Amino acid sequence: MIGAMLAILGAIETEVADNRSLLEDPVELRAGHLAVHQGRLHGVEVLLARCGVGKVNGAMATTLLRSAGATSLLFTGVAGGVAPAQRVGDLVVATDLVQHDVDVTALGRPPGQLLGEPRSWPADRAMSERLLAAADACAARDRRQVHEGRIASGDQFVASAPRAAAIHTDFGALCVEMEGAAVAQAATTLGMPFAVLRALSDTADHGAAQDFPAFLVGSARLMADVVQHYLR
Ligand code: SAH
Repeated sequence: MIGAMLAILGAIETEVADNRSLLEDPVELRAGHLAVHQGRLHGVEVLLARCGVGKVNGAMATTLLRSAGATSLLFTGVAGGVAPAQRVGDLVVATDLVQHDVDVTALGRPPGQLLGEPRSWPADRAMSERLLAAADACAARDRRQVHEGRIASGDQFVASAPRAAAIHTDFGALCVEMEGAAVAQAATTLGMPFAVLRALSDTADHGAAQDFPAFLVGSARLMADVVQHYLR
């Protein structure tokens, strides 16, 4: 393998479509079951892929992208905000990620921690700083806020205010989604630096099922913008 190669991963089509449409000299590859689009974004060699929803899909795609030559990984997607004073459209850059649906408490582990694994997986500092700067530049234009903190992942679409509040209190998370911590675990195990950017499509409460599709496209566009800034 020669040189650095950034992988950009999203879960669903809308989260990857904008970046893919901007790809210069695109070539479609296969990595296992995964369709991977290779090309240049702002002159930077990248691999783009859509992993599908959920932790297993996130972990599989991360592993396959690593095998396809990725040396670092940026995950971009939408999430439900669980911290107070957040608004739909705000951006969250992960400091670290935890799996809120993991429960080995009967064996004395804290909620979210698997045997032999850390409680959370930290994102790469340099990538995250750069992502924050890019997010700040884009957010300032339409008065969105950029938050930096822990992201919680699990195989659940959270659409309940009490559950959202519990994820915030129990895990100290700012938002909830379904892939990030699995990508983080796989990337860490494979020795691949990673960062995670999420735009809030909803606030993980009773309105989430309506808000998520309504704000998906706008959030995805904003994130593609942040990625352009990140690569510049
Ligand atoms: N469109 C899909 C479902 C997407 S699930 C379908 O119809 O089957 C929601 C996606 O957005 C996941 O990839 C997850 O990472 C993120 N997400 C957004 N809001 C969320 C929430 N409130 N809880 C969990 N995941 C959320």
